[in-house]
Amino acid sequence: MPEATGEKAFETREFQAEVKQVLDIVVNSLYTDREIFLRELISNAADALEKLRYESLTNQTVEEKELPLEITIEVDDKEHTLTITDTGIGMTKDELIENLGTIAHSGSKTLIQQLADAGRKDLSLIGQFGVGFYAAFMVAKKIRVLTRSYQAGASGYEWASDGIGSYTVGSARVLARGTKIILELKDDAHEFAGTATIKRIIRQYSSFVPFPITVNGEKINTIQAIWTRNKNEITEEEYNEFYKFIANAYDEPLLRLHFSADAPLAINALLFVPRQNFERYGFGRMEPGVNLYCRKVLIQQQAESILPEWLRFVKGVVDSEDIPLNISRETMQDSALVSRLRRAITGRFLKFLNEQAGSNPDKYAEFWQTFGIFIKEGLTSDFTHRDELAKLLRFESSASEPGKLTSLAEYAERMPEGQKEIYYINGPAREIIEAGPYLEAFRARNLEVIYTHEPVDDFVLSNLMEYEGKKLVSADQAGLELTEVEDGTGTESLDSETVKSLASWLKETLGDRVSEVKESRRLVDSPAVILNPDSTMTSSMQRVMQAVNKDLDIMGKKVLEINTRHTLIKRLAALREKDADFARTAAEQIYDNALISAGLMVDPRGIVDRMYRILERALD
Ligand code: ADP
Ligand code: MG
Repeated sequence: MPEATGEKAFETREFQAEVKQVLDIVVNSLYTDREIFLRELISNAADALEKLRYESLTNQTVEEKELPLEITIEVDDKEHTLTITDTGIGMTKDELIENLGTIAHSGSKTLIQQLADAGRKDLSLIGQFGVGFYAAFMVAKKIRVLTRSYQAGASGYEWASDGIGSYTVGSARVLARGTKIILELKDDAHEFAGTATIKRIIRQYSSFVPFPITVNGEKINTIQAIWTRNKNEITEEEYNEFYKFIANAYDEPLLRLHFSADAPLAINALLFVPRQNFERYGFGRMEPGVNLYCRKVLIQQQAESILPEWLRFVKGVVDSEDIPLNISRETMQDSALVSRLRRAITGRFLKFLNEQAGSNPDKYAEFWQTFGIFIKEGLTSDFTHRDELAKLLRFESSASEPGKLTSLAEYAERMPEGQKEIYYINGPAREIIEAGPYLEAFRARNLEVIYTHEPVDDFVLSNLMEYEGKKLVSADQAGLELTEVEDGTGTESLDSETVKSLASWLKETLGDRVSEVKESRRLVDSPAVILNPDSTMTSSMQRVMQAVNKDLDIMGKKVLEINTRHTLIKRLAALREKDADFARTAAEQIYDNALISAGLMVDPRGIVDRMYRILERALD
């Protein structure tokens, strides 16, 4: 190949350590679906062409403007080579070194670990990690990349490597513009030089590539912007294939929304919810997954501003005629038009989720399980859509069967006449909440309580403040206005004089650990309970803060309520007269027990010593 003769000496460069690790896995992989390498190379070629198309619309200095935008594949089953050429943006020498010698991905450690774990079985995810190019080393013993950047006056370069340790780069007289990648196939990969095989692979993985692809001169894909077609004419299979193509996915999507609108903005959108939430597996923050088009021309891949950040798990395409072609990343950010577009699409998408919750509850449950965390993120960070988002929340509650979830709307429907507030309480599990002291008062009054299990839930609900005019109140909050109920136990309470002096003695004994000690109107079975002054700081939020900072002193503002019908409290009142010292010990133990019931951290040493002293007396 004369175009590849280097003029200057080639320099040899080491791959970055992370790349070596990835290559080591890829080169030695026994992965059976090696054919995905072609999908990765075609997707890179298509990206390069999309970028070129965009540049030539917005930038005058594109070389060889008249070259057609296309992908050409040549296979040679005698030489055992596969060559893929595109007329895209190409690469400069620096870009070659940067793009094919290093990994830009920040979570590269996790990624290498994941690849290594999956190594023998499954490398199909490789494209999602931003290292798709290296997949070609599954089938090639040597790869040459000839490239010339679209920029005016750029010269050509050749990159070559056998995928082990290092690569070479040097000047080369190459094509007019774009990139040619030549794979010398491994001995056990000669099948990839067969036209029939290659055509099948392209049909399987790359039929939505929006540029013509030819194999040994024969054109094989039909270009189609599926999102602009009529819904009724698109098959389930086409949708799924398109999803796999744009999301780089190997499975089918969980949910799909295809809609168009004419007013107030012209929008054509095809959005998907994937099945998996990769942030859960420690890959770090997801990149936005929606591409922005104007009349089928890609304006921006993974556009940041077209959906709010908390919808970054959504994949798909938004096409709007109203977006100017030459809009830049920066102007996108604060364009009034883009924010109107974002509001419209987000609103439509949330409405869709809400409809799904009604018509397809099992699917919605799956959605909630996997992506509910993003809905919560939206509620704590974005006020624009709070009403729609609040409708999507799901929780366990004292009225739901274990494992079944309920919505705030369903709770509100069940509220008896006269109940004005929605109650919730946090705890790691249903059993723990139900065994704790907070539910007693609500059970006695037949009031439903929502169970929140994630620490973030209390931040979400306290941020939300109310649902359809009903205040959201944490059940561990002091000063709740609960109706009087008959006490079923029939036991007498302490007289008010004794209560008063017991409360002030307790306050004195416990010092700044409590802000106030009061007679409880809510307790039935427990002797005492710790409460918070308001919903801006529930016990679960404090647990989170304690976990972060062990020395944090946040106890000062607690309220201790005592059950003046409880035998223990009555005896404490009496003991105080006879043995003030031991009464103090008992008071401290009651206080610590109340903290433990609230799930808060207590210094165990103090408790254990004290328990021994109490036991000594009990066993006397
Ligand atoms: P990703 O495509 O996710 O960025 P890859 O490993 O597939 O990761 O490719 C690395 C980079 O190499 C690309 O981002 C791109 O900058 C560059 N590249 C690869 N193939 C081409 C090509 N055909 N034309 C221009 N640039 C390319
Ligand atoms: Mg790629």
